[in-house]
Amino acid sequence: MKKRVLIVEDEEKIARVLELELGFEGYDTEKVYSGYDALEKYREGNWDLILLDVMLPEMTGIELLRRIRSADSETPVIMLTAKDSVEDKVSGLDLGANDYITKPFQIEELLARVRAVLRTKQTDDASVLKAGNLILNEQTREVTRGTYEIDLTPREFDLLVYLLKNMRQVLNREQILNAVWGYDYYGDTNVVDVYIRYIRKKIDLEGHASLIHTVRGVGYVLKVNE
Ligand code: CA
Repeated sequence: MKKRVLIVEDEEKIARVLELELGFEGYDTEKVYSGYDALEKYREGNWDLILLDVMLPEMTGIELLRRIRSADSETPVIMLTAKDSVEDKVSGLDLGANDYITKPFQIEELLARVRAVLRTKQTDDASVLKAGNLILNEQTREVTRGTYEIDLTPREFDLLVYLLKNMRQVLNREQILNAVWGYDYYGDTNVVDVYIRYIRKKIDLEGHASLIHTVRGVGYVLKVNE
């Protein structure tokens, strides 16, 4: 089913760009230009995400967010704020906005944030495995670290699933080999080290903590170091 995004933005040009781009990405959208129209549309219900401009006629985005959050802590909201307004960002986040993006924004960045917020919303799903900001969806086979999408080969994917399902447990090479390659695999256990290296290269992005740790003389453990 298509995700429904409510666009609240009084600058028609921006609203139209958002409508178009989100449409291309496969979202269902509606756009409104004022605070009261937004409130009415919001109440019609069932939005997967609200993109909310702060500077709006009739009622500010901040006030609108306050009203939404007084009854609903679930629906994700991304605020669109002016570049120099630190105050709006802070009060937006304090009031329970999930994220914000400053204007003028790059559409690719906005789309990445939309995907990230919707993904986090889905993590109650049983097919989703998480370690810090690494999220793996077994059903869609999507893997992401923060806002980055990670491309794994089928074997790398299976190995990462196994590590995530056994989080914080030290696993030796034989265990990993049997679980991921199967008992009928007659190769060297070195293949495990090779694949761990491949995965690390892909998931340990710059600025993100390492997740797979080597336990000398034993094997590997996936954990999030606090
Ligand atoms: Ca505005």
